[in-house]
Amino acid sequence: MGNPEWVDPRNAFDGRSALFRLYVAAIVLAGAAVVAGCAVAVDWSAVPHVDAALWLVFGLVLLGELRPLFTAGATDANGLLVTNAFLFAVLLRYGLEPAVVLQALVTAIVDLSRRKAFWRSSFNIAQYSLSWLAAGLVVSALGHSASLADPASLRAVDLLAALGGGAAYFVVNEVLVTGALSLKTGESLLEMLQGDLAYEALTNGALLALSPLIAVAMERGVAFVPLLLPPLFAVYQVAAIALQREQEAMCDAMTGLPNRKLLSERTTTALLEKTDGRVALVLFDLDRFKEVNDTLGHHVGDQLLKIVADRLAGAVRDGDTVARLGGDEFAMLLPGVRSIADARDAAQRMAAAIAEPIVLEGVLVDVGASVGVAVSPDHGTELELLLQRADVAMYLAKDAGGGVEVYDAARDRNSTGRLAMLGELRRAISEEQLVLHYQPKASMRDGSVVGVEALVRWEHPELGLVPPDEFIPLAESSGLVRPLTVWVLDEALRQLRVWLDQGLRMGLAVNVSIKDLCGDGLAQRVAAGLVRYDVPPELLRLEVTEGSLFADPVRAVTTLRALDHLGVTLSLDDFGTGYSSLGHLRQLPVHEIKIDRSFVQRMHDDPRDIAIVRSVIDLGLGLGMQVVAEGVETQRDWDGLRAMGCTTAQGWHLSRALPADQLTPWLVERALAVGVPHQLTHG
Ligand code: C2E
Ligand code: MG
Ligand code: MG
Repeated sequence: MGNPEWVDPRNAFDGRSALFRLYVAAIVLAGAAVVAGCAVAVDWSAVPHVDAALWLVFGLVLLGELRPLFTAGATDANGLLVTNAFLFAVLLRYGLEPAVVLQALVTAIVDLSRRKAFWRSSFNIAQYSLSWLAAGLVVSALGHSASLADPASLRAVDLLAALGGGAAYFVVNEVLVTGALSLKTGESLLEMLQGDLAYEALTNGALLALSPLIAVAMERGVAFVPLLLPPLFAVYQVAAIALQREQEAMCDAMTGLPNRKLLSERTTTALLEKTDGRVALVLFDLDRFKEVNDTLGHHVGDQLLKIVADRLAGAVRDGDTVARLGGDEFAMLLPGVRSIADARDAAQRMAAAIAEPIVLEGVLVDVGASVGVAVSPDHGTELELLLQRADVAMYLAKDAGGGVEVYDAARDRNSTGRLAMLGELRRAISEEQLVLHYQPKASMRDGSVVGVEALVRWEHPELGLVPPDEFIPLAESSGLVRPLTVWVLDEALRQLRVWLDQGLRMGLAVNVSIKDLCGDGLAQRVAAGLVRYDVPPELLRLEVTEGSLFADPVRAVTTLRALDHLGVTLSLDDFGTGYSSLGHLRQLPVHEIKIDRSFVQRMHDDPRDIAIVRSVIDLGLGLGMQVVAEGVETQRDWDGLRAMGCTTAQGWHLSRALPADQLTPWLVERALAVGVPHQLTHG
């Protein structure tokens, strides 16, 4: 029982809201009539002579109203008011009129002190008055007389009357308040009533059952009234504990932030309320959390999450909600943004708060976040859709290397959602929609081909040939990359066997992901594949990106050693974009580094990129490795790299990645052109 905090008829425009306004107006009118009638009926001249017990009760009621208990979610209308016990006692002892007047007075004072809107306060007073009216009618109908207050003449029927009156109050109050809420939200009244009826009935019943005792105590004298405070306090306390439990179930234990459930609830409420405003949902995914967690340990990871949680909580404005959804995912609800631009600004402010470097166990860690924003009603008006679209935006941000992205339907190539895409990708792997193209690498000494790199493509039935950059990140973030690698390895080795049977002996490189390295079984799988297709291990090379080694050095190195042991060679892909330390590099069983194509492509424009390329070449050669330049597109690139001592080149200048059946003629032509047959194993 309580007062409705959630209704604001000012943003009511549709038919449902018109009905709601009508309803509120009707209740207010009826309530006003009851209050006026009671105020007239009260004998005001008797007020100065009212007994002390009533004054005490008046004070207690006021106090109780100032401390109502509301269920979690804060917007819930169902609060618990200890004062009902006193007001009902007043009704039993002095009759309906004083109870209604007292209630109206107290509610007006309390609402005024809280600066509640006038119409809200009016609705409160009205629905209380009507509830007490119902109680009063039932009490007198069941034959209660003022004798209740006289213990000597207390009859069983008086208690029955009290019971009936309490029940009437409870039911009418519950229906009036829930009715307004139901009209407002469009949810079924019955379902809403059923919500937490048992809890409500129990706590309110316990309170109202005390009323006859309070009435008796009032009769006996003011000194007896405080005796009833301990049991009242106990009921209040039990309810408070229940509420606290409920609230805890809505919170993330580690950070203390609201959890997904509470966020969902608040978002749903906000979406229902802001029918004419905007509501923004923002998702954050920390960019380097896994690396921190794996490298520095879980307790440091936890510490990091707490710091991020504090920063987010510190940066939100009043009324906004920051939640932790699990793992390194956080979310923010902005229930009152004016525009999409405002939502983006807020998201950017939060992202900036996260991006401040953090010192953890003496290590300076830079965790950024990829942030996705979806705004209602522009991108959807339902929780699920908004969440999904914020997720799509977040993945776009992740692909872009971090930062804030607002959902954009035009860029949502997979509007059906990531999940649908994941399902399709899973099928693509099992239904052989994937194909490998092979891109040659050539020795810069004589131009001869020294091997090929297998690059996967997805022959999508509708989208056509999808490049790996559009699905590998998805596969990696979902664990699908492992079956993908299994397929790629098998297919590549099968093709290598075909070439060997044709008399073409050359190195073949396969890309593997960090998930493969850190999981179990890659080495065994490679060993089994080599046996199955009878391929000499030195022909197979595995490319791992530099960044992946940093993520979980210990496990990655274990796998690399096992592969090295098999006789398979290893290559560090996209070198220069990760964070590997030189000391670390020296200890790895790596045979080749590939300079990331971004450096090669900027080489002619930026002297700093030349410096990087030159240093990487010198470093690789110094450590006895081959150095492959990626993305060699022009003769000029080729000449420059060759002059710097680079051993191998790969790129469009030589050839794009080709399907196997086109590669064979290309190889023959190339061998003729350079006068050196393809022969070697990776150079
Ligand atoms: P990567 O391993 O660094 O592969 C080289 C990428 O550079 C390929 O893109 C290739 O087509 C492209 N490239 C080659 N020469 C040039 C050039 O001259 N100019 C330009 N601009 N680009 C060039 P692709 O095939 O789109 O592959 C992108 C990335 O996807 C690969 O980068 C690799 O990290 C990943 N990937 C590809 N196939 C697989 C796979 O089978 N498994 C895994 N785990 N990852 C794969
Ligand atoms: Mg590669
Ligand atoms: Mg690369």
